[in-house]
Amino acid sequence: MKKLSLANTPTRIEPVQLMDADLPVNLYIKRDDLTGLSVTGNKIRKLEYLLEKALDDGATDIITTGAVQSNHARATAMACARLGFKCHLLLTGSEDYPEEGNLFLDRLAGADIRFVSQEDYDNHRDAIMASWKEELEKEGKSVDIIPMGGSNGLGSFGYVECFEEILEEEKDMGINFDAVICVTGSAGMLAGLVYGNAIHEAGKEIVGISISSPKEVVEKELLPPIIAEMNELKGTSVPADAVTVIGGYEGRGYALSRPEELEFIWDFVSQTGIILDPVYTGKAMYGTISEILNGRWEGKENILFIHSGGAFGWTRRQMEELLRK
Ligand SMILES: *Cc1c(COP(=O)(O)O)cnc(C)c1O
Repeated sequence: MKKLSLANTPTRIEPVQLMDADLPVNLYIKRDDLTGLSVTGNKIRKLEYLLEKALDDGATDIITTGAVQSNHARATAMACARLGFKCHLLLTGSEDYPEEGNLFLDRLAGADIRFVSQEDYDNHRDAIMASWKEELEKEGKSVDIIPMGGSNGLGSFGYVECFEEILEEEKDMGINFDAVICVTGSAGMLAGLVYGNAIHEAGKEIVGISISSPKEVVEKELLPPIIAEMNELKGTSVPADAVTVIGGYEGRGYALSRPEELEFIWDFVSQTGIILDPVYTGKAMYGTISEILNGRWEGKENILFIHSGGAFGWTRRQMEELLRK
């Protein structure tokens, strides 16, 4: 599978040492938050494949979509700036949304932004992107559309590669990870890890902690079509059910925080120097530590959490919620 080289990989794996909790397993963290600065987090691994395809297609313009503070939209806008594509973003929200965090960086990268209501985003985003594409093609542009989160079969091969890095790092470190945990939004990262684990017959438990959709939706609606596309691209028959999806940590829903999550993030960052974000990694690390303390991995030795980035997701509202605590 051809790809560009945009990310600083392989990313390192470090032990997590918490002062205030004596964890019954060794917790490690893979620093995919260090894949870059503007073009960072987990989305860049997917974009290496998706933007290679865009170059091969002879595209001049890229359209993609996400929430107003989408890390994927920002990473795409920045990568497009680097590669010379014009980037068009369909985001939830409106013109009067505060231009901070990822949205500010989208502007800085020169992205062309259109806003849609949450309802149109939920129900019609693919159709809206398709008609935007037609519009641009009438102006003589050649356009590739990248789906929400970069989560299709092709993009998810970025996380097969991440899984292969983990296998190499295990050899170098002389340890074995019993479980690999990631945050799950649109399930692309999870799909890549599941696929890698199957292809390499690594026998690890692959765990996705959902931060927005109920567990059943991840298992039945989000993950299987991505794995099916990966199988189609590679002529394989990897099953989509060799996975553990943990629900119950969605809290108040996408990009909304509960006080206990914010308190946890503050504790964690102040004890480790590793920034967690309120939308993805904060919730998932909160879930990981809670599950460890509840005995989920009793008898296991080493657990690996993939830090997928997200630091630009701290909006003024979320910072204030945290600091008011
Ligand atoms: C998008 C994102 C995720 C979720 O990845 P998916 O492949 O959409 O499941 C996790 N963490 C961060 C920081 C993200 O931006």
